[in-house]
Amino acid sequence: MVTRLYTHPIYLEHLTPTGHPERPDRLRAIQRVLDAEEFAALERVEAPEGDPATITAVHPRLFVERLCQAVPESGLVGVDADTVLSQKSMLAAVTAVGAANAAVDDVFARRADNVFVASRPPGHHAEKATAMGFCLFNNAAIAARHAQTAHAAERVAIVDWDVHHGNGTQDIFWDDPSVLYCSTHQMPLFPGTGAKGETGAGNIVNAPLAPRSGSDLFRDAFLSRVLPALDAFAPDLIIISAGFDAHHLDPLAEINLTEDDFDWATGQLMDRAERHAAGRLVSLLEGGYDLQGLAFSVAAHVGRLMKG
Ligand SMILES: [Zn+2]
Repeated sequence: MVTRLYTHPIYLEHLTPTGHPERPDRLRAIQRVLDAEEFAALERVEAPEGDPATITAVHPRLFVERLCQAVPESGLVGVDADTVLSQKSMLAAVTAVGAANAAVDDVFARRADNVFVASRPPGHHAEKATAMGFCLFNNAAIAARHAQTAHAAERVAIVDWDVHHGNGTQDIFWDDPSVLYCSTHQMPLFPGTGAKGETGAGNIVNAPLAPRSGSDLFRDAFLSRVLPALDAFAPDLIIISAGFDAHHLDPLAEINLTEDDFDWATGQLMDRAERHAAGRLVSLLEGGYDLQGLAFSVAAHVGRLMKG
């Protein structure tokens, strides 16, 4: 197995206020854990800057321009109550898009079996024309569209196990049956969307979980909802919106998963990618706010990607 890891120092320069959960230390914790000997075989690649045309394939040009214009010379500017811009935020966001697209290119060109992208800001709350929930551009949605336009992928599946519902991804593909969006998430919780009855054009599969659901109900949701949907859809590529805030140590939610659950879920998706998509699997970091829980979870996830 060849597993690539994309990251970039610019991701540390997207700044948020003191005490904000989505902070540069998240990536430092991931870097530290992936420096261990067991990850020596990871192919580490510096993320390229993203092509703006891939962003405007998903987000309206006016939205992108307004976000660029809002970037401050210094200090922080709020986009909403918990989403902020610092001087380098746009460069970080465009480079997060660049890494996601490069990961897609890699699995289609067979340079890698699978790829993990350790980037920030995250993306799954960003709707077509709204930046929110710590997210500026929807990296997973842009990467899915890129796979369709650059690699003639007909069907792309996005599986989102972040503990929050990916309202942005759902919004973008609501009436687009060429993209399957499957999400497990805590409900009720921010952003409030993600009920089972929200099905789009039959291409949205929401599996909401009550607080304190734990490993068994999470795995049940995967086995009974997510995996059958993937089998029926037979994607050409699977993209994981890999948030790790469902971990029991995370301060933002209480689904109470362990790193073993992320190992298991990764294995299940690799199996489906093998079955339907010639193994093509791209994983993009979303949330995960307890540094230890995040590091343990990423180690389990990337370890599984490397082992097969
Ligand atoms: Zn989250």
